Amino acid sequence: MATAHILGYPRVGEKRELKFALESYWRNETTAEALQGVAEQLRAKHWKKQQAAGLPFVTSNDFSLYDHVLDHAVLFGITPARFNKKPFGESNVPPESTYFAFARGNLEQPAMDMTKWFDTNYHYIVPELNADTTININAHDFLIQIDEAQRFNASVKPVLLGPVSLLYLSKSKDVNKLDLLEPLAQQYAHLLRELQHKKIEWVQIDEPILALDLDETWLKAFTKAYAYFRTLRPKLLLTTYFANVARYQTSIIELAVDGIHLDLVRAPEQLASWVNAVPAHWVISAGVIDGRNIWRNDLEKTLDYLAPWAKRLGERLWLAPSCSLLHVPATLSHEVNMDTEIKSWLAYADEKLLELQVLTHAINKGVEFVADELSASRLAIQSRNNSKRVNVDAVKQRLSDVDTVSAERVSAFAQRATIQKSRLNLPLLPTTTIGSFPQTADIRNSRAAFKKGDIDEQTYNAQIKSHIEFAVKQQELLGLDVLVHGEAERNDMVEYFGEQLSGYIFSQNGWVQSYGSRCVKPPVIYGDVSRPKAMTVEATAYAQTLTKLPMKGMLTGPITMLQWSFVRDDQAREATALQLALAIRDEVDDLQKAGIAVIQIDEPALREGLPLQKSAWADYLAWAVRAFKLSASVADDSTQIHTHMCYAEFNDILPAIAAMDADVITIETSRSAMELLDGFGEFKYPNDIGPGVYDIHSPRIPSVEAMEKLMRRAIEVVPVERLWINPDCGLKTRGWKETNQALKNMVTVAKNLREQLQNNQRSTLS
Ligand code: GLN
Ligand code: ZN
Repeated sequence: MATAHILGYPRVGEKRELKFALESYWRNETTAEALQGVAEQLRAKHWKKQQAAGLPFVTSNDFSLYDHVLDHAVLFGITPARFNKKPFGESNVPPESTYFAFARGNLEQPAMDMTKWFDTNYHYIVPELNADTTININAHDFLIQIDEAQRFNASVKPVLLGPVSLLYLSKSKDVNKLDLLEPLAQQYAHLLRELQHKKIEWVQIDEPILALDLDETWLKAFTKAYAYFRTLRPKLLLTTYFANVARYQTSIIELAVDGIHLDLVRAPEQLASWVNAVPAHWVISAGVIDGRNIWRNDLEKTLDYLAPWAKRLGERLWLAPSCSLLHVPATLSHEVNMDTEIKSWLAYADEKLLELQVLTHAINKGVEFVADELSASRLAIQSRNNSKRVNVDAVKQRLSDVDTVSAERVSAFAQRATIQKSRLNLPLLPTTTIGSFPQTADIRNSRAAFKKGDIDEQTYNAQIKSHIEFAVKQQELLGLDVLVHGEAERNDMVEYFGEQLSGYIFSQNGWVQSYGSRCVKPPVIYGDVSRPKAMTVEATAYAQTLTKLPMKGMLTGPITMLQWSFVRDDQAREATALQLALAIRDEVDDLQKAGIAVIQIDEPALREGLPLQKSAWADYLAWAVRAFKLSASVADDSTQIHTHMCYAEFNDILPAIAAMDADVITIETSRSAMELLDGFGEFKYPNDIGPGVYDIHSPRIPSVEAMEKLMRRAIEVVPVERLWINPDCGLKTRGWKETNQALKNMVTVAKNLREQLQNNQRSTLS
């Protein structure tokens, strides 16, 4: 008999109940008890779903009010001392406000850092370690959730983030993380004993860092930590996901655990080697249902894959999604407006639970027992494979001819730069912005009214035009050199294009947690992507009629379109990226034909697409850069191509960024006080750069002095002829008043520096 389980269920609720409960608590509109009540209801609901799907035990402690890594920091008392100052420990401060202060900051302290959870779009809170950090377990809240689960269901499998991953994912100041390993492992052992007392049979212990490139020291850390788990504890299921972990097999099979979970969606090839290597009593949890994507499982294919192993492993085979279902939305049942054919190809968390049940029955009771379910699955898979909406001959044809399309610009950068200079007639240190201007209540109301049908398209377009007019006017008054239309018509930089491209569909309730209460609804790329008609030409060309200054066209690049969507799994990501690239290429061409001389192709997500293991970087970067270049290479020499990137360390991918060969790149640098630019300088980045001088995440208006200082630093690193002045990123979240003031200061900096450079005959500043 094979056993089915899940690694975790999405926390936010079918309709984002947790988000709304959190935000009303943060606004002081509800009590901590009310918030905890919502959380309790959600957990009960999630367990009920697992019971209904026939899972022999429910998974507990996968829930979190904000983030599970933060929960573990709290559980083991490794929270930063800087928060201890006042409120903490005072009896009148509810523990919830201390907890949220860690995540969101408070009046005295900035929040703890947040960073991406591996290569997902979930973000975790980074624990802070330093020389004073001591491990101090407080398991009360953790155990309460177990009691709650046990009242609900006799068998409960709690989840723990393993000690080695917890340390690895932390950041440390003046202490070697591994110095804390043994005391931490001791406390884990202590907790495991408690769980043994509570009659817990299995504990799931997640060690996701096994997906990364680990050196000897970290591998040894596993051996050291798990040595504390040899006695008096429940059975341990070591969970790995997001990658093939077979290269660490010799270390892993020595650990004192009782089974391993493998991601067989990302790395199906690893199963055989594990079955052959693990100790005879270990279970193998086969992660065969995609926990990261929303496609329906090809159940018969999965059963074929599992068949030989199911026989061999018998009771030792467990079945599961590849990773926690945190990364997919909860249920398809609220997608009432979705195209029914496409909907039949999808599986959100609840549908994945049912798939798990069917697979388990097929293995335990025989395929006849689930004949109907299997045939339904077969039909859905067939309809998807054969659909002319998915596989569009013309798009496939264009893709197969893609090698005949040059990804190179006509001339090298130096020649292009000369041609563009004479066309654009820009001053030294030209000023520009990244694209969006404040999304005012007015703009949001227009869009909402149009979506609801309260105003017709004509009225809506007229309103958008007036927002564009306003933005252009402001920029002229400010004295900026390269203008933008302001993106008033865009709610989101991916959604706006996805809605106009074929091959994309949008869900109504496909929410996925990004961090804390923040959720995103990624669009779904279900079929071959193409561009039925021009997407931005009308707005951009209209904006250009309003000014004599160059108007910059604004596009989202192929890799960002890919990264921030649910991508089809029936062809390589590279193929989808190239289809997107060709669609954007068409838009670039139409923009330049409409007389637009500057076009920006945003790629803020380029870096986050990097594979977890370095050995796979070169391959990804090669096709990602090619996709970008294909979208840009249709530009004539006289058309200036910009790109933009933010929220990232770029230094380790500088050669790839240079290979993109954009005429100008604008990057976020102000918060690192231009440190990020050093890499570009050392690398001798060859083209133009606009290092951000205005931190658009902060309501603070940067002074002339502060920005001038940043630019002076930039001039030391990059030749002044190749520098631009601009904010870190788009201004859509800011208000007009602060934006105007900040940009006014920014233009003043440009003027001051130009004057000083002129007096000193360029290139040097006194
Ligand atoms: N052009 C976009 C904007 O200005 C870029 C956003 C981003 O980089 N995330 O909003
Ligand atoms: Zn940005």
